[in-house]
Amino acid sequence: MPTPPVSLPTHDRWGNPEGLRSHRVMSGKGPLARLMRDKALYPVFQPIASLRSGAIHAHEALIRGPQHTALHAPDALLAAAQRENLMLEFELFCVVAAIHGWSNFNDPGRLFVNISAAALVEAITTRKGSHDPFDFVRKVGVAPRMLVLELTEHERVTDMGALAEVAAEVRAAGIALALDDFGDGRSSLRLWSQIKPEIVKIDKYFTRNISSHAENLQTLQAIKQIAGIFGSELVAEGIETQEDLRVLRDLNIAYGQGYFLGRPAPAPRAEVEEAACLALKDRSVAIFPELERVSRGGHLRGLSVMPAPAASLQTSNDAMATIFMSHPDLHAAAVLDEGRPVAIINRQQFMNDYAKLYFREVSGRKPCISLANRAPRLIELNHNIDDLIGILTSQDQRYLRDGFIVTDNGRYVGLGTGDQLVRSVTEARIESARHANPLTFLPGNIPISQHIERLLASGVDFVAAYADLNNFKPFNDHYGYWRGDEMIRLVAKLTVMHCDAQRDFVGHVGGDDFIILFQSADWKTRCERIIAEFHTFALELYDAPARTAGGIQGEDRHGESRFFPCTTLSIGTVRISGGQFRKADEIATQAALAKHEAKKAGEGVFVLEKLVDACA
Ligand code: C2E
Ligand code: MG
Ligand code: MG
Repeated sequence: MPTPPVSLPTHDRWGNPEGLRSHRVMSGKGPLARLMRDKALYPVFQPIASLRSGAIHAHEALIRGPQHTALHAPDALLAAAQRENLMLEFELFCVVAAIHGWSNFNDPGRLFVNISAAALVEAITTRKGSHDPFDFVRKVGVAPRMLVLELTEHERVTDMGALAEVAAEVRAAGIALALDDFGDGRSSLRLWSQIKPEIVKIDKYFTRNISSHAENLQTLQAIKQIAGIFGSELVAEGIETQEDLRVLRDLNIAYGQGYFLGRPAPAPRAEVEEAACLALKDRSVAIFPELERVSRGGHLRGLSVMPAPAASLQTSNDAMATIFMSHPDLHAAAVLDEGRPVAIINRQQFMNDYAKLYFREVSGRKPCISLANRAPRLIELNHNIDDLIGILTSQDQRYLRDGFIVTDNGRYVGLGTGDQLVRSVTEARIESARHANPLTFLPGNIPISQHIERLLASGVDFVAAYADLNNFKPFNDHYGYWRGDEMIRLVAKLTVMHCDAQRDFVGHVGGDDFIILFQSADWKTRCERIIAEFHTFALELYDAPARTAGGIQGEDRHGESRFFPCTTLSIGTVRISGGQFRKADEIATQAALAKHEAKKAGEGVFVLEKLVDACA
């Protein structure tokens, strides 16, 4: 594409009468100085779109050097500016070039222009006289309120006070401020809180692949909260795919920028790329990635710690016996050496020894440490649950008898019992399974409910499906849990395979129960495929005689032996129209009813036509 002509001003509007033709530019021997003198630099414009409406909200001006040369990209130009000691001149040149370039197009939208915070401060504070530095903006026909200055390289700001003053001056001229590349190493939360920019642009590191990175999604949710506190709007930079675009839209990020919406080009554009336009018009709810919490074993809310008296290395057996007698609930006592536990004394064992004939007379005044277990189980207060699981599954099961000692940074805090440990770990595992099923790694009840809530809130039509196995229990009893687990994983694998990862949400409620929330129009065919393939592959989990017989002999619920056909899959489905329900549990009820009817009807897909009254 031809480079549009950029008519640069003949003298600087930032207060320096030498203008862009400053001495350093005019006499500079380097390649950048030459390019600036030759007016060989030009801006390109990249659209910033509203993620809600898809309309173009603004363009960002990005500087370019001559094509097919080493100084085409801004990074190379900025490096050259550094080398040639022309940083301020170059940056101001870019601002002026951007605004002049923009004025050629009469585009109604806003223009975002990059400038480093340091250059902005220097340009405004060192200008001579009371000259309005933004006068030229109006003169070239660009309204200051259509201008947004994007602050880059915030790390170079050493004088935050000066920047705040300059920011106030920029705003007084009607120009808005944005923080560029927030979240990369060079941006600062402090600057955000002090300047309170109208707009914050989130670095592409956080937006790229957001549709598959749960951590980035959560980071973005946190950034959104900060934006709410400081009253800033967000722009997600670097959107390259349809999947990322839809997730960002559903996160309610106001604006987006990236190659998928439109690449930088010599002229502004009226609409975003067609694929982006289609993706934004499609109102189906994006599937958010799930954190794989199971691998971290879940979160332990707290391990109950019993504050209990402890013995020292000098405590005698008599004194220890007195402690136990005055604390009848104490199952054990820790022995401390200067506050650090070195042993544990089991109450029952100790009292048995103490009660022996002549024990008191012979050993009453001897230190109790001789009766202690010198290898106690220690658990740090800020333990991680995997350590606790390690204790539960280790060969050494003494913790069940002696309990364990809780320490804070190595110092004694109190005691805990074995059954408390088992309970805490079990609760944490159950809690974590509510987020993701440990067997299939599919989202559990909590994310399922969250997704249903998002579907209900958006008002889209969807289909809730409940998949469940028939004759699974006899299979499990006959072949054991190991193969039972394989069958469950088979359902998970086929379901995920036949669903559209961008539209359909697959959750694992537990056991052999799966929920699928379809937004794909061909949901029924997908269900039929899942069932048909399941029936083929599930047979392979049986042995040859069972396959020939078409099932196995097993016990029914009443303990009576009978023949059970091979395991099949039923999927109960129910269509949900936007606005029909408000709560996730209402959908769960409908889906459970559909499953119930599906099981009655036998294998296959069942469509529940008569919905249960939501208010009943
Ligand atoms: P920036 O201000 O964050 O600009 C966005 C950069 O990301 C641009 O690179 C743009 O082409 C690129 N980009 C946009 N969408 C995507 C995407 O979907 N994927 C990827 N991978 N990249 C995308 P560009 O033009 O090379 O600019 C690089 C940086 O140079 C800019 O980052 C900005 O800090 C600086 N810069 C560019 N023009 C100017 C200017 O006129 N003045 C100043 N002071 N700095 C400028
Ligand atoms: Mg920028
Ligand atoms: Mg940026």
